[in-house]
Amino acid sequence: MTMKIPSKIENPRYDEPLCSRCGLCMGNAWPEEETLQSCVFNTGWLGIHEERLFGRRRNSADKNELAFGITRRRFNARMNKPIEGAQWGGIITRIALKAFESGLVDGVVTLHGSHLQPKAALATSVAEIIESKGNRPVLSPTLIALHTAWKKGIKKLLVIGAPCHIHAVRDFKSRHQYLKDTEIHVVGIPCTDNLEAAHMRYVFSQVSRNPESIISLEFMQDYRVHIKHENGKTEKIPYFCLPPSVLKPGVFSNSCMSCFDYLNSLSDITVGYFGAPFSSDWKLQWLLVRTEKGERLFDLIRNEVEVSAEEGRGDAIPSVKASIKSTEAQILKPELTGQRKSMPKPFGELLCFLQSIKGPRGIEFARYSVHIHAIRNYLFVKHLTPDRLKILVPEHILELVRGYGL
Ligand SMILES: Cc1cc2nc3c(=O)[nH]c(=O)nc-3n(C[C@H](O)[C@H](O)[C@H](O)COP(=O)(O)OP(=O)(O)OC[C@H]3O[C@@H](n4cnc5c(N)ncnc54)[C@H](O)[C@@H]3O)c2cc1C
Ligand code: SF4
Ligand code: SF4
Repeated sequence: MTMKIPSKIENPRYDEPLCSRCGLCMGNAWPEEETLQSCVFNTGWLGIHEERLFGRRRNSADKNELAFGITRRRFNARMNKPIEGAQWGGIITRIALKAFESGLVDGVVTLHGSHLQPKAALATSVAEIIESKGNRPVLSPTLIALHTAWKKGIKKLLVIGAPCHIHAVRDFKSRHQYLKDTEIHVVGIPCTDNLEAAHMRYVFSQVSRNPESIISLEFMQDYRVHIKHENGKTEKIPYFCLPPSVLKPGVFSNSCMSCFDYLNSLSDITVGYFGAPFSSDWKLQWLLVRTEKGERLFDLIRNEVEVSAEEGRGDAIPSVKASIKSTEAQILKPELTGQRKSMPKPFGELLCFLQSIKGPRGIEFARYSVHIHAIRNYLFVKHLTPDRLKILVPEHILELVRGYGL
């Protein structure tokens, strides 16, 4: 079934409840009122959960903890034999397979379905775990599968999810008795700027002449958006040349503009890419091991990856400062963003070249992205839904934005 591509995105309403379709209140194992108590948009981001997991809150004076959360270690890793069809090298899928085959877990809460039509899945076989590989760059109801797992009586679970999934799982487990005897391991993905599938189709239609064949679109460390097509071709557009229509309010979901945990700080291990140097083959990944369980999960694949030290070049802070004005305008004067013209490609390419020499790289690139998204989302909540500020925004984000005089 092909989904209709919206010809434009309507201006959003801000008075509706936030929902990232995480799936926790969409299953039928537990009463909706109880699951809703654990919705991250009711509990707020982090709060007591960081303390519960690590025995302390993050130290905001430590610039790495401020941006990346509490970690035991962070490093880059490349699968010796990357998994075909995985989002990057397939480290997450490989961890899930090994956790299942070794008996550490009896089921994996994850996704099946196509890139724009994800379905929650409880994977309980090798084939079902392999089927879960790859990116679904849209809001995804993973946690419906938590209901399935509980109904089936599975007591050893791996949950793979975005930060809003993981917050809901951590809160639900600690708030209610249902999962008291369930041992949960968590692999987190970094996540930002997510959106409804229909909106993603709209974005595809704005950035490519062949929107129907796009299978993924990533903001990469070379300051370009890489658009992969079914036939293996990749289009590249400098960030600076993106059409303003894809940046205007309403394209990204309100929930994702009110999200304050880009790097999945409550996971046992976060597996991303953007703190690693740019790899044109998309196989170099960035890992943040947070807990003892995270160490155990990584141990499962230790012999199958080449590990290298995390690296960083340049300084993220001046780049963040240079982006604040345009970020503010995006929130406070959205009509101007919509009217702006795209930058001509040669200028965009020149900027990419200059950034490749002077701009932040490695973990400095990740820091830049974490800071500027935190600032944008803070401004979004502060100006458009100020009554939510107190519930949603964690203390370290307030410190981060104060650091920029905001
Ligand atoms: C919307 C979105 C934004 C992201 N932004 C960043 C970013 O800015 N920086 C960064 O470093 N990484 C980001 N990631 C994560 C990154 O794209 C990879 O998913 C991650 O590095 C794992 O790669 P892999 O090859 O090990 O994954 P695979 O082995 O292919 O496994 C991916 C796993 O993630 C699950 N999954 C896919 N899509 C979703 C989803 N929407 N919600 C929940 N689970 C999902 C799959 O079912 C599978 O279990 C983002 C992911 C998403 C979905
Ligand atoms: S974010 Fe999750 S728990 Fe909250 S309302 Fe949406 S589906 Fe339900
Ligand atoms: S950006 Fe935040 S709220 Fe949106 S899907 Fe990702 S983790 Fe959930």
